[in-house]
Amino acid sequence: MTTLTSPGVTPRLTDRYGRAITDLRVSVTDRCNYKCIYCRTGNDGAQYAELPSEDYLRIVRVFVGLGIEKVRITGGEPLLRKDLPRLVREFAKLRTPQGEALDLALTTNGHLLEEMAPVLKDAGLGRVTVSMDAVDPEIFARITRVPGSFHKVLAGIRSAHRAGLGPVKVNCVLLRGFNDDQIVPFAKFARDEGVIVRFIEFMPLEEDRLWTPEVVVPLHELVERLSAFRPLVPLAANAPSETARRYTFDDGVGEIGIIAPVSQAFCGHCSRVRLTSDGKVRTCLFSQFDHDLYGRMLRGATDEEMAAYIRSTIEKKEARHHIGEPDFLKPSRSMVHIGG
Ligand code: SAM
Repeated sequence: MTTLTSPGVTPRLTDRYGRAITDLRVSVTDRCNYKCIYCRTGNDGAQYAELPSEDYLRIVRVFVGLGIEKVRITGGEPLLRKDLPRLVREFAKLRTPQGEALDLALTTNGHLLEEMAPVLKDAGLGRVTVSMDAVDPEIFARITRVPGSFHKVLAGIRSAHRAGLGPVKVNCVLLRGFNDDQIVPFAKFARDEGVIVRFIEFMPLEEDRLWTPEVVVPLHELVERLSAFRPLVPLAANAPSETARRYTFDDGVGEIGIIAPVSQAFCGHCSRVRLTSDGKVRTCLFSQFDHDLYGRMLRGATDEEMAAYIRSTIEKKEARHHIGEPDFLKPSRSMVHIGG
């Protein structure tokens, strides 16, 4: 396989602030079978976009040649793609310029995971993160707007665990007044199921107008509410760019992560870049612009030209987001069309 650098030279994709970009999120579809209230509208009128798998594969290969080490497949709902196992199999064959396999992960709503977990493991997937915003089935159905969905997701989480796609992480976006009564039940769930539960602060990335600062449950409040259940003990970060602050409880049972992009932004350590399902590069969740990599590819760009375009795009990565500031502008796309 060709790499895009001379032998012995370690490529480093860095932005103008010196941040190394090592983590690519690839949205393989913007279709979704859920309509979570904090993400989508209740309507289904949008146009969808997906590239053929060969095209994702070529683009990801170019990124990996530039020093990407971690690829997270996302969407929309990635399990809606029939050819996902093939895509995973091909991604799993890629090697970094140092000859290392990728850290290959997937984010899913879990609805189709029970059957797919062993198939994806067999294809070479490393880990999954499942989004689940309540452990109460009724609250879960109100958030996803899909009746009867909770038990499918629970079965999916357990199947991923059995298939060895661990450590399985379960992401919960907290919204005051909707599911913040689920904090302690989720702590118990983490302890009982042996999964890592991660609470995420709600960000203004939804299609509807739901976000206000008051709906966000900030990190400090979450820590207080969890500590009232059982004393929390902080755990060391796995890496400086890790988004979650990690905790266990005083008896060492259960792991909780708190991702606080609103109250404790971590932009200074951001190592991420995103590829949307229509082949655009996004350098920040809150970007006002897309960078049309796929358009260049369709017009005949070589791998080297695509790599040069990616480098120049990453150079311009935003310093930080401006959530909660007077000059904040909602991004040009909602989360489902960016890829979380
Ligand atoms: N369908 C997959 C899933 O459910 O995980 C992947 C796509 S989903 C857009 C990726 C992640 O974004 C999920 O964990 C979801 O909870 C999160 N998300 C969506 N909208 C969000 C928002 N407004 N604030 C914070 N997280 C959000």
